[in-house]
Amino acid sequence: MGFKERRKSQEIELGGFKIGAQAPISVQSMTNTDTRDVAATVAQVQRLEKVGCEIVRVAVPDETAALSLAAIKSKISIPLIADIHFSHRLALIAVEQGVDGLRLNPGNIGSAVRVREVVAVCKERAIPIRIGVNGGSLDKELVAKYGYTPKALVESALEHVRLLEDENFTLIKISLKSSDVPATLEAYRQLAAKVDYPFHIGITEAGTKLRGAIKSAAGISLLLAEGLGDTMRVSLTAPPEDEIFVAFEILKSLGLRQRGIELISCPTCGRTEVQLIELAANVEKALAHIQEPLKIAVMGCVVNGPGEAKHADFGIAGGKGVGLVFRKGEVLKKLPESELLNALVAEVENYIATLTN
Ligand code: SF4
Repeated sequence: MGFKERRKSQEIELGGFKIGAQAPISVQSMTNTDTRDVAATVAQVQRLEKVGCEIVRVAVPDETAALSLAAIKSKISIPLIADIHFSHRLALIAVEQGVDGLRLNPGNIGSAVRVREVVAVCKERAIPIRIGVNGGSLDKELVAKYGYTPKALVESALEHVRLLEDENFTLIKISLKSSDVPATLEAYRQLAAKVDYPFHIGITEAGTKLRGAIKSAAGISLLLAEGLGDTMRVSLTAPPEDEIFVAFEILKSLGLRQRGIELISCPTCGRTEVQLIELAANVEKALAHIQEPLKIAVMGCVVNGPGEAKHADFGIAGGKGVGLVFRKGEVLKKLPESELLNALVAEVENYIATLTN
């Protein structure tokens, strides 16, 4: 039983936040606001912080966006990464603005002089650079040589790595993203044999909320089971807050992180006598603000429910018109169905209050 031991990666710091080695696998997302709109971007980052996002990345497509970074950074409390394509000038501005990290492929910003300039300022401020190789934007020569293969992803990453290492820069993180799960897994496996920089993992362009969550869970879990991965982003065509939710659900399911409730809800069956789907969704919503790890059960019948969910910290079991509120399998209250949700929330909140007092 259990996973392979976690790969021994180097530890880097991103604005004081540790990534790699023994640090917990961190969860990040990317804003989808216009970075030039500081108020909207800050508001989105603050929503992300509330749901547990630990690192945030913003797109920096032009100078106005780059010049907005200091203002954004001053109003948020998690590390800020500037995502830059092709422009060493934007990278220099972003560093000057005080970002904590860059996502930048050094091979795409032109001459060695430009790489040197960016590396010099990153070194001075100990700012890590993430090399992000994406299956969709591989160099033509590499594709000609290796085809669209995991090997092409790895070789591309290594080319970028070499450019940084040539400048004696090693504050590096690497992602190898493909929308193909087996190819992603193979690429990270191959890269793990070559470098010990921390890995940023995820399945890119995974899709809409449910499909993307499934594909991400499949891919990320396979990687984590092999000990590959130090920080992760779930990419969804959905609000970024959903990415954080899915990321934590994956990590919680694997026992790698704890945060908020774990919902245990029965699949319903012919014995179900309450509107359980709706009730479970309402419980999830009503307890979304809880940060303490708690197992909450929502079961469809009073006969089997409490017993089947014995390991839950708190739970409700619905019956015909009446239901039970229980704790670790023991019945606390029998109540009309309409009062179950509020009673459960009250029990949980009382319990949380005893923890914090
Ligand atoms: S808890 Fe009750 S309603 Fe839910 S699946 Fe089990 S037997 Fe059916």
